[in-house]
Amino acid sequence: MIKTIVIGAGVIGASIAYRLAQAGAAVTVLETTRIGGGTSGISFAWTNAHKKPPKSYHDLNVAGMKAHVALADEFGATPWWHGGGSLEWVAEPDRAAQRRNIEQLRSWGYAAEWITLHQVQELEPDIDPATIGDAPVAFFPEEGWLDPVVYAHAMLSAARRRHGAKVVCGARVIDLIMAGDRVTGVRVADSAQYEADIVVNCAGRWTNEVTRDAGLHLPLAPTVGFLVFTPPVAASLSRVVRTPAIDLRPDGAGRLMLIANTTLSFDTRLSPSMPEARDWVRRSRQLLPSIGEVEPEAVRIALRPMPADHFSAVGPMPRVSGYYIAITHSGVTMSPFLGAAVADEIVSGRQRAELADFRPARFFN
Ligand SMILES: Cc1cc2nc3c(=O)[nH]c(=O)nc-3n(C[C@H](O)[C@H](O)[C@H](O)COP(=O)(O)OP(=O)(O)OC[C@H]3O[C@@H](n4cnc5c(N)ncnc54)[C@H](O)[C@@H]3O)c2cc1C
Repeated sequence: MIKTIVIGAGVIGASIAYRLAQAGAAVTVLETTRIGGGTSGISFAWTNAHKKPPKSYHDLNVAGMKAHVALADEFGATPWWHGGGSLEWVAEPDRAAQRRNIEQLRSWGYAAEWITLHQVQELEPDIDPATIGDAPVAFFPEEGWLDPVVYAHAMLSAARRRHGAKVVCGARVIDLIMAGDRVTGVRVADSAQYEADIVVNCAGRWTNEVTRDAGLHLPLAPTVGFLVFTPPVAASLSRVVRTPAIDLRPDGAGRLMLIANTTLSFDTRLSPSMPEARDWVRRSRQLLPSIGEVEPEAVRIALRPMPADHFSAVGPMPRVSGYYIAITHSGVTMSPFLGAAVADEIVSGRQRAELADFRPARFFN
């Protein structure tokens, strides 16, 4: 039986751990904080392949979207995944680009359609049509969003209960153990050691922190993401809506999650009363007047785990054996597909063609 260590219990580590365990590997997940305690817990978590060229990257995202849907057959219910599609309209100067994107998506077989204002009101009756004006509205019926922490927990619970995986929280990996150029395990902060045939690094934006060997560091270019949350509000929003002023979606119990471009730095002192947060809620109130004079309830900031060229890095690390990396933005969308593909590569030794353009080796040539 192949012995594996998965570092990190975000959506990527949880997905890979589940599929590895299901495929018969012995799996130990080492997580420094808690399940979903990293970026996965601070994510807009929109499942989409909306604007993700080139085709091979688009396809990875579509594969993730399909894999989320397919989990319903395997788990019976998937309360962590929410379908319903997404709506999008853009400001006048961006409309030609929006049209081009939709034409490209359709040519790739992606579900994207133009809908009328009347249809918008049937889908989202609380949106004030005046905020849309004469903007064409696009609908992407196969998109959705995820509750990433609930998903990661479900995958790890299934890995443990059905397939005997071990999940150790409070275990911070501080270095790889090497025998020559072979990785044979990891050392954790309390000086305990774990041995494995394969170590799979799913530490997200902390990927480089699990080894002191700078030669095994991947070039990263993380970007800042800022989210604002309302308290429960009187609006029936039920899908991802993307507008020139704000993007938003439901976040359970009547709360809304808001995202827009930000110039905030990662070390910004956060407070729900900060001007950016109040401004975003104000913009949301213009879209959804029924929410009333509500104030932000919470704000969160995170760094997106992003390889330097902004594409996924999934595969064996060059120069060593026994060490595999899986780091990506859009990880919420791709996670169930990556889980299956990575487990397939590790357990069967097959090379998955879908991952060919995204090997970590491209950074070391
Ligand atoms: C604001 C924002 C919006 C986003 N929106 C979307 C979106 O709409 N759609 C989408 O698909 N994606 C989106 N993303 C990206 C997506 O959230 C990430 O790609 C995904 O969560 C990455 O998951 P992960 O498991 O790789 O990383 P993480 O969730 O960060 O998991 C890594 C885990 O490793 C643990 N760890 C770190 N170091 C160690 C160590 N030394 N030892 C042990 N454990 C360790 C961490 O504690 C963490 O739990 C967004 C991200 C942000 C920040």
